[in-house]
Amino acid sequence: MITRREALAALGKSSLALLCGSLRFLRRDAEAAERLAMATPNHIRHFTADNPGIMTLQGTNQYVVGKENIVVIDVALSADSNMDGIIEQAEAMGAKKIEKILLTHIHSDHCGGALALKKRTGAKLGIHRSRAGYLGGEDFQYGDNDRIGFGGGELHVLHTPGHESGHCCFYESGDKVLFSGDNILGFGTAVIRPPDGNMTDYLKSLERLLGFNISLILPGHGPLIGKPEAKIREYIQHRLEREHQVLSALRKGRNTIGDITQMIYVDVSPALQRVAEFSVQAHLEKLMREGRVKREADRYLLLSDN
Ligand SMILES: [Zn+2]
Repeated sequence: MITRREALAALGKSSLALLCGSLRFLRRDAEAAERLAMATPNHIRHFTADNPGIMTLQGTNQYVVGKENIVVIDVALSADSNMDGIIEQAEAMGAKKIEKILLTHIHSDHCGGALALKKRTGAKLGIHRSRAGYLGGEDFQYGDNDRIGFGGGELHVLHTPGHESGHCCFYESGDKVLFSGDNILGFGTAVIRPPDGNMTDYLKSLERLLGFNISLILPGHGPLIGKPEAKIREYIQHRLEREHQVLSALRKGRNTIGDITQMIYVDVSPALQRVAEFSVQAHLEKLMREGRVKREADRYLLLSDN
């Protein structure tokens, strides 16, 4: 049985920052760490980057996958302490070398340390082909349905745009594990920020994931998700409810992003106000693509009562 102290250590350094936070957070954090440490298959470990925040939760989860030859998924920070953390996890698994680095997407909290880890370990760095050259030091590209080997198995690349147009999830069919990046998070919902973020694509990506036999989701932020299908359905349902709310606000004559956001997100904190507005904008753009809403300057109008 893992102790709470060990669980906190397993969650990574970011937990320590939260020791100063509220007890509620600490408890939730420790429970999350316990779940993460106890339920992950032997050939998968993680190190949470020391970048906690509103958008990153406890910090970015960087995954270490394999036996002798390791694949690392996402590297948030180039600080030595972050790379030490990742390398220590690989060594604890008996790894001979970190062979490849994969990125779920190009937001800096997922790729900010990729070149530094490549330099330090000699690993080959991969990126989705739509983002080739973004970091300037990639060694290979991958696309939808590619298979990328690691010591002991392979990862199936799933191009899942929505949060970011080049976003990829990685599916490991041996243990039915999905590395979901920012498509599905351990807490809360993913941010869909137009123009690169796209709600139509996002919902399609979520629907697609329902077609895979997944027993565990390992997200880019927050604790692991042990009931994947329920979580994915909850995510889809949540977005459809929001869409319904946007339509009903339009029917009531609210027609700017600001007004609609004010009506729907009644208790949103100021820090998340912009994020809420992005979400409303993403829903409006989806409805425009479907021919249900039109835009006139900064006003959005229902085309027919639907
Ligand atoms: Zn992220």
